[in-house]
Amino acid sequence: MTRLLPTSTAGSLPKPSWLAAPEQLWSPWKLQGEELVAGRQDALRVTLAEQDRAGIDIVSDGEQTRQHFVTTFIEHLDGVDFAQRETVKIRNRYDASVPTVVGPVSRETPVFVEDARFLRAQTEKPIKWALPGPMTMVDTLYDAHYKSREKLAWEFAAILNREARELEAAGVDIVQFDEPAFNVFFDEVNDWGIAALERAIEGLKCETAVHICYGYGIKANTDWKKTLGSQWREYEHTFPRLMASGIDMVSLECHNSHVPLELIELLRGKKVMIGAIDVASSAIETPEEVASTLRKALQFVEAEKLYPCTNCGMAPLPRDLARRKLAALSAGAAIVRGELSLALAAE
Ligand SMILES: [Zn+2]
Repeated sequence: MTRLLPTSTAGSLPKPSWLAAPEQLWSPWKLQGEELVAGRQDALRVTLAEQDRAGIDIVSDGEQTRQHFVTTFIEHLDGVDFAQRETVKIRNRYDASVPTVVGPVSRETPVFVEDARFLRAQTEKPIKWALPGPMTMVDTLYDAHYKSREKLAWEFAAILNREARELEAAGVDIVQFDEPAFNVFFDEVNDWGIAALERAIEGLKCETAVHICYGYGIKANTDWKKTLGSQWREYEHTFPRLMASGIDMVSLECHNSHVPLELIELLRGKKVMIGAIDVASSAIETPEEVASTLRKALQFVEAEKLYPCTNCGMAPLPRDLARRKLAALSAGAAIVRGELSLALAAE
């Protein structure tokens, strides 16, 4: 990537209202069968056009073909019974009725590879593809088979690795694993979470990323954030071990959070996607606010390793709001890009 400060999104973007009910997670599809397949492809074309229009440099599918960033992947696996539900606490935060692991988990056919091929055919730009991370997958299930979070995570890591290799072959430039659970289970992260993530990226030649955030802008998450105090130092537990890992890029929540930005110093040398757009607020950032976040981050990340991004996915936001936030992200990045090239010219 030759352009400085290439912009991207953390992953999900709002779906058109003709495809799924707007402004909610796990939103049910409004189409069925062949119409649903065609509708999802149309939504993918639309989300790509919107990212282009907003000036986003590294584009994604906006997760238009998934109901949810974790559940949809798991639905395609054997060994998980979606009819057998148990209530568990997700990320130690909220109760949810979840499917049960009833036997060995396996992936009979690729999950997103056709979608990635379709997206690849629509654009010349670099593509980032998000997959759930092994620990976050484990945390959304009741396990009646392995009875070990670690064992189940290793099984998922092997499955994710096969999917990621096929995504790479389909032309994906960056495979990203979403691990919000890394901000909660620090002992497990260091015991086996990052090791499982490294298993998931084994042998990949494309770039690899991990997205660690404080969650979508839903009430359970915003309530939890209120309990975290004035300094959010969760990243401090994970970054040293991530720094030693083979992961190329780390995607973080920054703008409007209480994360002390100096924690990013712990990742010096890695590429860092800086969340400069708050997905939990309906206020649209000004380009200057975005630029201000990026300038602060530049104290701790080399300019050529800084990737302006959103804090998290935007699936639950109104479409127009998401569009305008993406435009602000691009405009803010352009301001700082201009400053950097002036500084370079002055040297
Ligand atoms: Zn996120």
